[in-house]
Amino acid sequence: MPFAKRASWLSRPNTERSLAKPQEPATPNQTTDGTSGSFWRYSARVADSCAKHIDDPVERLKFLQQVAPRLRWKSYNIPWRVAGLILLVGVSASLSAVLFLPSAKPLQPVLPSIKPIEHAAVVAQHTAPSDVWQVEKTAASEVYSNGLRIDNHYLVANHPRSYVAFPLDQAAQSEGVRRTEPAGIVFHTTESRLAPFEADQNRVLKKIDESLLEYVRRKHAYHFLIDRFGRVYRVVAETDAANHSGNSVWADDRWLYLNLNQSFFGVSIEARTQPGQVEAEMSPAQLRAAAMLTEMLRSRYHIAANNCVTHAQVSVNPSNMQIGYHRDWASSFPFEQLGLPDNYQRALPALWTSGFEYNPEFQQWAGDRIRAGIQLAEDRLTAQAAESGMSLRAYRRMLQKRYHQELEIVRRANADESEESE
Ligand SMILES: [Zn+2]
Repeated sequence: MPFAKRASWLSRPNTERSLAKPQEPATPNQTTDGTSGSFWRYSARVADSCAKHIDDPVERLKFLQQVAPRLRWKSYNIPWRVAGLILLVGVSASLSAVLFLPSAKPLQPVLPSIKPIEHAAVVAQHTAPSDVWQVEKTAASEVYSNGLRIDNHYLVANHPRSYVAFPLDQAAQSEGVRRTEPAGIVFHTTESRLAPFEADQNRVLKKIDESLLEYVRRKHAYHFLIDRFGRVYRVVAETDAANHSGNSVWADDRWLYLNLNQSFFGVSIEARTQPGQVEAEMSPAQLRAAAMLTEMLRSRYHIAANNCVTHAQVSVNPSNMQIGYHRDWASSFPFEQLGLPDNYQRALPALWTSGFEYNPEFQQWAGDRIRAGIQLAEDRLTAQAAESGMSLRAYRRMLQKRYHQELEIVRRANADESEESE
């Protein structure tokens, strides 16, 4: 909502910064399966017999993989010379680790993993997007095979995309994994001044556009902006991060993403979100443009439909641990008309991965559709707490603690990039 902020039409606070110090790139978890050799052995017969009771083949395989490393120590008649050699190798390896891995970090507290289960039944399954390719390119613009035209007059560079994401199935112990590919799209409204959309307002409409684009460029606020006429402007380069979703949380089936400025594209539509609004306030031209842009980005970067979401779905406030700090497209985003599943039907990850809460005022303001995602997330959180044997309150506190640990990792990783958020 940067333009509105500058023009003092803004109605909401919006300062989000990354603050902390740099860190070494994340090191992958070091694991040994120990399944070979004559020392480790487990009862295949017992494991197989337990595995037979698991119907799902993937879960069965996971079970067997989990059982294998926890092998019982078996006493064998080991020749002393062999045992001595192994002891020597072990001591050498330990010394090497101490001497040559100075950046080794203390272990995180062991917390339960979050299972990457999704409420797939309520979210329509969408196929991969159509293949979209570039047809023409000049210094000023690009044309794509689906009719998309991108204007590059306001293009600006920012720092290259590089971020840390957390694998969901081992998030408890993970230091995160460094990635550079875009994982999704966050849709915004500009919340800027809107003149009447009428022919005799052309001069005013175009003047507002110019000011808005200048502001977005100066702030590196979004990757793309779609104006009232449906014109698509590329502002921040696709290779770079943009300051569109500072404090934010999203997760897909495999990864947890915090602070989406780097991991997600920011696409903003020149529009405003009204309280309780459930119908999109978008012109037909904006709808068509947003659909074509989404299709091109998904095709080019293999972005999952489930990772195309709105700012209201991802925005959080770490200081009070509540969702809904930014509220653009809270309940009125036309997912279906952009060729996407109704992602309002997805359990909001901020609640079930990170223990965020919400207040009744936000629910009231935000409207019906996002309430579905909040309810699904609450249900999921309750089920996770029951499964872990903890009270809901204790489980939520555990998730919040873990969120702050992960946030610190992300902030250290991004410390070189002076980020500000819209
Ligand atoms: Zn926004």
